[in-house]
Amino acid sequence: MLTAVAGLFLIALCYVAQCSTRPYGTCRRCQGWGCKIRQTRTGRLTRGRQCRRCSGYGRRLRVGRRLYNSLSHLQHEGTR
Ligand SMILES: [Zn+2]
Repeated sequence: MLTAVAGLFLIALCYVAQCSTRPYGTCRRCQGWGCKIRQTRTGRLTRGRQCRRCSGYGRRLRVGRRLYNSLSHLQHEGTR
């Protein structure tokens, strides 16, 4: 039981470190392509429509980083 808690804590610590060093992850919808990948009739792969979720960037802000940003903005607004 204690090792499980320690493992979870370690995983959470790694996630926090990742959120602070690399706040962007790849878009889950387009897997970082920034667009839909379509196949033509001849079988070639071409760029399709731009991804709506990341608007073509292929990246998304991590959930933890978004949480941190909103909390820091909240604190900034509250202690002004
Ligand atoms: Zn995308």
